[in-house]
Amino acid sequence: MSKPLRRQFDVLVVGGGPAGMAAAACAAACGCQVGIVDDNPDLGGQIWRRETTNPTSDAAQWAARLRVAGSEVLAGARVFHQPEPGILRAETAENLYELSFEKLVLATGAREGFLPFPGWTLPHVMGAGGLQALVKSGLAISGKRVVVAGSGPLLIAVAAYLRRHGAEIAMICEQAPWTSLVRFGAALLGQPQKIGQGFSLRKELSRVPFLASSWPIRAEDGEKLKAVTIRRGHAHERVFCDYLACGFHLLPNTELAALLGCRIEDEYVQVDELQQTTVPGVYCAGEPTGIGGVELSLAEGQIAGFAAAGRSENAKKLFHTRAKLNKFAKVLNRVFSPRAELKSLPQPETVVCRCEDVTYGRLRQHTSWRAAKLQTRCGMGPCQGRVCGPATQFLFDWRPDSVRPPIFPTRFENFAVTANHREPEHVEVTGGKQ
Ligand SMILES: Cc1cc2nc3c(=O)[nH]c(=O)nc-3n(C[C@H](O)[C@H](O)[C@H](O)COP(=O)(O)OP(=O)(O)OC[C@H]3O[C@@H](n4cnc5c(N)ncnc54)[C@H](O)[C@@H]3O)c2cc1C
Repeated sequence: MSKPLRRQFDVLVVGGGPAGMAAAACAAACGCQVGIVDDNPDLGGQIWRRETTNPTSDAAQWAARLRVAGSEVLAGARVFHQPEPGILRAETAENLYELSFEKLVLATGAREGFLPFPGWTLPHVMGAGGLQALVKSGLAISGKRVVVAGSGPLLIAVAAYLRRHGAEIAMICEQAPWTSLVRFGAALLGQPQKIGQGFSLRKELSRVPFLASSWPIRAEDGEKLKAVTIRRGHAHERVFCDYLACGFHLLPNTELAALLGCRIEDEYVQVDELQQTTVPGVYCAGEPTGIGGVELSLAEGQIAGFAAAGRSENAKKLFHTRAKLNKFAKVLNRVFSPRAELKSLPQPETVVCRCEDVTYGRLRQHTSWRAAKLQTRCGMGPCQGRVCGPATQFLFDWRPDSVRPPIFPTRFENFAVTANHREPEHVEVTGGKQ
């Protein structure tokens, strides 16, 4: 049985994206002993993946601030359990860690939202951010024809990134209607930095068709993707392509916060003005408190880092910036929430829980997440309901009723240490049909 390696910190930060890096840098600059843990091999999170070595990037500047301030980085380590208050367990490929802390900052970010439609589980149909991450890790995309679809500004960022790497973008399909997109454009006017980004992306994608009120209704072929049928207004169009990059906006990663007993409402971790959750000494920053983009994650991360270090006067200086960015985030989430028509995309034989191969037809015989889980094993596979949970919430208005450790699949020997320690607690999640 593994013996845990023990570390002790004044401030422990979980998540090494922009929010976590900012929180760790600020807390360390105040003289705290800081640890930052992330499950990727490098810091940077989703947007700054593999960017921290590009010397002109914001990512490199934050990485330098973190280095100068001094903190212990535990990369490739995933936090999976809190055996008792003030201690988290994390595992790497080789080791089990026991991380003690005085103050904790949760900066666990967000993931893409997926909605099932016929063919969405075919090879070469993947999340928009997922395909981008694969290309960043070396997948050759040059010369490949890609349809980018779903919802949210991430589609544009991904399309531009793939094009820069030689892909042919057949079209970008956004489910939101033009009326909503115009509202989003108006909100951008209050964000000068984003207007500049928007124009440069628009220029990069100048000859790529952008369709509003359109979405994929079917992806075809036996072994590998061949074509996608797009609903375009009232018409259907079949588009040949090598990849479909499809994600429906972002969803907050709140499982760890829920496990720790932090209050979650309307999908997000609730925090006070200093980013403190309802659990004293536990702060939360970045996308788990609301989807709002990198600038908001950075502002919240700095506030949380200063507050955790006991420097609320420094934190307060960032309140104005955060308030402005929060306004924009509200519009973002209204505009890109999925429209009701998308509920009719799955057919009875469409797989909804891809870990356990559970179809839409089987799920619709049940009236709650719990009943479906007990009868079909939906949500019990390796993703632990991270994909099918939000999908069934959208399709049937179900809500996962509890979060249990381990929150990620864990090596048996590491969980056995945990189980020996104490019986895992059952943590209720508030709100919604169970
Ligand atoms: C797949 C994807 C791609 C994106 N690409 C872009 C883009 O190209 N351009 C753009 O403007 N925005 C992009 N975004 C949005 C962008 O990530 C956010 O706007 C913002 O930067 C989020 O910062 P964050 O620090 O809150 O979270 P993140 O950047 O998501 O960082 C959170 C980190 O915490 C880690 N983590 C979570 N749970 C644990 C745990 N239990 N143990 C250890 N580590 C953990 C995650 O792996 C991640 O590295 C993307 C989002 C996603 C989901």
